[in-house]
Amino acid sequence: MKVQLRWITPDALEHIEWDARLCYDSHDKIKEGSAAKLVKACVNKGHHSITEHASASFYVSGVTRALLAQMTRHRHLSFCVRSQRYCKENPFTYTIPDNLTDDAKVALVAQMHSAQTAYNNIVSMGGKPEDARGVLPNACHTEFVVTANFRAWAEFMPKRTDRAAQGEIQQLANLLQGILQAECPAVFGSLKI
Ligand SMILES: Cc1cc2nc3c(=O)[nH]c(=O)nc-3n(C[C@H](O)[C@H](O)[C@H](O)COP(=O)(O)OP(=O)(O)OC[C@H]3O[C@@H](n4cnc5c(N)ncnc54)[C@H](O)[C@@H]3O)c2cc1C
Repeated sequence: MKVQLRWITPDALEHIEWDARLCYDSHDKIKEGSAAKLVKACVNKGHHSITEHASASFYVSGVTRALLAQMTRHRHLSFCVRSQRYCKENPFTYTIPDNLTDDAKVALVAQMHSAQTAYNNIVSMGGKPEDARGVLPNACHTEFVVTANFRAWAEFMPKRTDRAAQGEIQQLANLLQGILQAECPAVFGSLKI
């Protein structure tokens, strides 16, 4: 799994402060250190929409289609995903979960080879990738760009860093959270939305 921050709103905290202070006609109160205090105070009283004025975008690769299915349930995240209609999955790569026994890993790998063979056969018989993809597994890797505002990221993190979340998406959520906390600690260090 690879996660790369593509971009984040520059000076996000200061922008959010300026936008929020518009509501209170208090731009004159902007000073060193005022942004973090104001943003936390607003969020604590439920004024969450102010965090929608900053965004972050990531490039994620080497993750499974199973992860993608879970990620896309979050309705405020925006995606561009590698297409299995237009891109040939030959060869496709996949993830073998660490927590499988050795025998189970062998069984999974055998199934991946079989899926690849079936996919190649269908394409060589004139099948389009969009039809041949029917034999591809959930473990097949994909890549995507995902963009969201800070509020949407803050809502996503607790659900997917939780120990109840599936292992792979938990790993991704922890990586995303680590990057966002380093980039904007005042928002992602304490936000409880
Ligand atoms: C551990 C775990 C297990 C899961 N297991 C399953 C499963 O077995 N089957 C399954 O189908 N799904 C499962 N899910 C997915 C889950 O049901 C949600 O679809 C997913 O977590 C997205 O979260 P969300 O719906 O809270 O909000 P998001 O789509 O991320 O939106 C963020 C917030 O916006 C608000 N919001 C968004 N849309 C609406 C709306 N239409 N109406 C009102 N408020 C809205 C809500 O406050 C919401 O919390 C699982 C999720 C987790 C974390």
